[in-house]
Formats: sequence, C-alpha cells, structure tokens
Amino acid sequence: MQYMKPQTAAEVSDILARSDGAARILAGGTDLLVHLRSGAIQPETIIDIKHINGIKDITDEDGGLRIGAAVPGQQLGEHAGARALWPGVVEAFELIGSTQVQGRCTMAGNLCNGGPAADSVPAMIAAGAVARIEGPEAPRDCNLEDFVTGPGKTVLGKGEFVSSIFLPARPGAASDAYLRFIPRTEMDIAVASAAVNIELNSDGTIKSARVALGAVGPRAVLVPDAADAITGSKLEDPAIDALVRACEAAASPIDDKRGTIEFRTTVAGVLAKRAARIAMTRAQKRAGENT
Ligand SMILES: Cc1cc2nc3c(=O)[nH]c(=O)nc-3n(C[C@H](O)[C@H](O)[C@H](O)COP(=O)(O)OP(=O)(O)OC[C@H]3O[C@@H](n4cnc5c(N)ncnc54)[C@H](O)[C@@H]3O)c2cc1C
Repeated sequence: MQYMKPQTAAEVSDILARSDGAARILAGGTDLLVHLRSGAIQPETIIDIKHINGIKDITDEDGGLRIGAAVPGQQLGEHAGARALWPGVVEAFELIGSTQVQGRCTMAGNLCNGGPAADSVPAMIAAGAVARIEGPEAPRDCNLEDFVTGPGKTVLGKGEFVSSIFLPARPGAASDAYLRFIPRTEMDIAVASAAVNIELNSDGTIKSARVALGAVGPRAVLVPDAADAITGSKLEDPAIDALVRACEAAASPIDDKRGTIEFRTTVAGVLAKRAARIAMTRAQKRAGENT
C-alpha cells in the first residue's frame, strides 16, 4: 500500500482520478483505519489531505464560516465564532467519539463516510451547509442534503473530494440544536437523531425553519413538512404536534437489535420536538442580545 501526502487539491484529484477507485482519502482516519483493520477495504493508495495549504483552517466568509476538510472536532469546538453562530452543529460534531477521536475526526470525513447515523450530518443539513467539491473540473458546491445518496454512497465522482464545508451567515434572532438517542451515555451510534434550525420574526414567531433527521433511513434527510408545521408559530402545542407527526411520517428506519421501527420512529419525533424547543430558547436569547 502506498501513502501519499500531496500539497495541492489538483494533486489529490489527479491521484484519485488515476487510481480508478483504488485510492482512499485519509483525513482523521477514525473511520478509514477501522475499515482498513477490519479488511472491509483494501486500497492501493492512501491520500493524506492534511498537507494541503489552508485545509486545516476555519475562515470567515460572507458572514459565515468555511471549515477546511481537515479541521478536527476539537478545533471547531474551541472556535468561539462557530459556537456562537452554529451551536447545534458544534454540539453534534462534539458528540463524535471521545477526546482522542475529537483530536482527529473531521466533519468532511463524517460526511464522506456516508453513514446513516453520522452525527454532524443532520445538523449540517439543518444549517443549510454546503460542501465544496474539488476535482478534475472547476470546484463545485453541493447542498448537504443532496450529498449522501445511500449508505456509504455520495455524489462524489471520479477524481473528486471535499475540500471544505461552508456554514452560512445567519441573522441575530436565530439558532439551532441537535439531539440523538443512544442506548449508552457515550461512544455509541445514534439510534435516531434530529436537528432543528430556526429564525425568528421580531414578534417572536418562527420566520423560517429547517428540520433534519438522522439514523431513521438510509441517509439523513431534510423534512420540509416539519419545518412548515412550525413556521409562523411560537411552538405552541398544535405546531409541535404537527412537527412530531411530520417527522414520524418522514422516518423509514430499519428494525434491528438497537431499536425497532416503531421505537425509532417515535424517538425521532420526540427528539425533533425537544431540539425545536432548545433551538427556540437559543434563538430568543440571541434576539435579546441583539436588541
Ligand atoms: C471510537 C469511535 C467512536 C466514534 N463515534 C462516533 C459518533 O459518536 N458519531 C459519529 O457520527 N461517528 C462516530 N465515529 C466515526 C468517525 O469518528 C466519524 O465519522 C468521523 O467524523 C470521521 O472523520 P475522519 O476525518 O476521521 O474520516 P476518515 O476516517 O479519514 O475518512 C472517512 C471516510 O471518508 C473519506 N473521506 C474523508 N475525508 C474526505 C474528503 N475530504 N473528501 C472525500 N472523502 C473523504 C475517507 O476516504 C473514508 O472513506 C466514531 C469512530 C470511532 C473510532
């Protein structure tokens, strides 16, 4: 097996394109090394992207944040701007693994691994995040909800990789939240998860919302009906009930030893309800701070 550490995105793309599927990107390696050790994958070439200029940076852009594809969880968690702007995304990413894993794992890796239960993905979908894809052609952007196409599958074509993820700007009276259910208190994969991102009008009603679910289908999904259910409300009971029903309807989970279809469906609705209330409280606090 060959280990390569290219210095530019063009080199990465070139190696990927020439390898015809036999090369794998290495970011933090917290999924890749597990797959290598188990024998699930046997790549001929490992491409370490951490030596590309700027790929470990978090930069301000148009009021939002561009997160390089090699930024580990710990670095994002310590970024005051990210915590203030997108607390739901940061809390989702911080749930991944342990302190040791946090020192390595990346959001782009969590995304590109394509796992249905990936914690940061529903939060990024709710945030309206966008992946920057580089490859043989000009760089292109992909909305996060369109990126994963099925378990382990993504929209990445030949020679393409993710160079960064963009978290957009947001107004003062807005916030987000992420919750997951796991049978243990730590170090487990979500049985169901939900992320909610809301923006408030000046009268305290919800101006717009994005709701996403994870681990209750082959990939994390955006649930527009759930967002519609709470838009215009102050999260009164009828709106919350409609949000829960929309989330239950959007869930299509598997039945396994970690949770039955019925359990996962119910929990998805409960988590969305609780995440919406947390996002609302955070948005109200931000609205207060900005008046
Ligand atoms: C002990 C432990 C606990 C964990 N707990 C959780 C958890 O609670 N929640 C959770 O969601 N995950 C968890 N994980 C999984 C893993 O840590 C995350 O998915 C992590 O975010 C992967 O990021 P990485 O940088 O390590 O990816 P890597 O392992 O480097 O890569 C993952 C996959 O994506 C590809 N890839 C990586 N970066 C790119 C890129 N920029 N462009 C194209 N392809 C790319 C790689 O080739 C590989 O196939 C855990 C893992 C371990 C070992």
